[in-house]
Amino acid sequence: MDGVGKMLGPPFASPRDEDLGQAIYVLACRLFPLCRSITGQGVRDTIGILRDYIGIECKEVPSGTRVFDWTIPDEWIVRDAYVKDASGRKIIDFKASNLHLMNYSIPVRRVMPLTELKEHLYTLPAQPDLIPYKTAYYTDAWGFCMAHREFLKLADGNYEVVVDTEKRPGHLVYGEYLHDGASRREVLLYAHICHPSLANDNCSGLALLTCLAAYMKAVKTYYSYRFVFAPGTIGSLAWLSNNEHRLPDIAHGLVLSCVGDDGGPNYKRSRRGDAPIDRIAACTRCGDEGTPLNIADFSPYGYDERQFCSPGFNLPVGLLQRSAFGTFPEYHTSADNLDFIRPEHLGASFRMVRDMIDALEGNWTPLNLSPKGEPQLSRYGLFSVIGGHKANSERTMAYLWVLNLADGRHSLLDIAERSGMPFSEIAMAAAALQEAGLVSNLGFTER
Ligand code: ZN
Repeated sequence: MDGVGKMLGPPFASPRDEDLGQAIYVLACRLFPLCRSITGQGVRDTIGILRDYIGIECKEVPSGTRVFDWTIPDEWIVRDAYVKDASGRKIIDFKASNLHLMNYSIPVRRVMPLTELKEHLYTLPAQPDLIPYKTAYYTDAWGFCMAHREFLKLADGNYEVVVDTEKRPGHLVYGEYLHDGASRREVLLYAHICHPSLANDNCSGLALLTCLAAYMKAVKTYYSYRFVFAPGTIGSLAWLSNNEHRLPDIAHGLVLSCVGDDGGPNYKRSRRGDAPIDRIAACTRCGDEGTPLNIADFSPYGYDERQFCSPGFNLPVGLLQRSAFGTFPEYHTSADNLDFIRPEHLGASFRMVRDMIDALEGNWTPLNLSPKGEPQLSRYGLFSVIGGHKANSERTMAYLWVLNLADGRHSLLDIAERSGMPFSEIAMAAAALQEAGLVSNLGFTER
């Protein structure tokens, strides 16, 4: 699959969302078919694909290892699973969709009547054509998921049930990649790697972060960027347990999921509520329309930000999504497929994350060198004498905000926040004012 990796060159040099998004979409398509879980071969194979793009390390934690209040479970091995009717016809087949098998099902090989089989069948009566996604982690259970319409067709009689799986001591694996910056201070970027064939949740997040890491290889940064691809909950706990010594260096962080649809965007603040990443999210826009993010307060429900933001860590980590998990009808069903995510949405999400990183990297404190009254902007070529154009007036407002708040006590982020303008707009205005000799740069500011 050399061709895929090579696609990363030119598309990332292009500002068009569709081109950025196409490379991310191609990767999501490669990840989609794999049967991932919180352990097992699917996670290893997924990390193997990401390795075509970045020098990702595969970390292993043995089954039985304590991670805080949890224990790394036995590894789940899945070879096949199906149900055959009395005529020998496969009516449910794991090989047709890995969502058909409840994830982490224990082995079964038995003939049973429909009444007994039904106790292990899961459907969505309100969405009769869709297969639900179900898991049975940390318990001993088995089950099949199917479309309710197919379920209603099941005739009385005996069924042959085969779940060819195994749970045995092995490892939990996760992937980690470090982009080295000038500083030891780190930005943690995290996506969960445990969902099987679900495109938005979370092939989209895995693919976007991998392409971001590949894109950043050519970029020099102040912060170091630590990309972690680990199973939900137990994976972030394992990572935290292995990296407790490193946590004081985590300056900012972001969990990414569901970034391939056209909803939102939605940002959930860190538990701190006023971390720089929380403030930057409020000063970020999405897409060519410049859509502001819906900002929600922290709540202890969601993805792995729950672990990063538990009181013992309280890391400055927020959650970025397009449609919020659990709110879209395709969520955790077979309709969360490769038609549900689109290259243009992945591209817009990519740009949004890149803008947030630009804000982390490009936050400085300006000082107005001409603070007595407003400078006459037209003398510096900064003010169009032909007024009235919308973009022109927005740029002028950005100049006025920067000049007014450039008293040496406000960072560009403070100014963006106070003005209600996008950080990118404030940063461009500040750079032009510095170029014109109207402000000086008092230095990089973390917040
Ligand atoms: Zn999920």
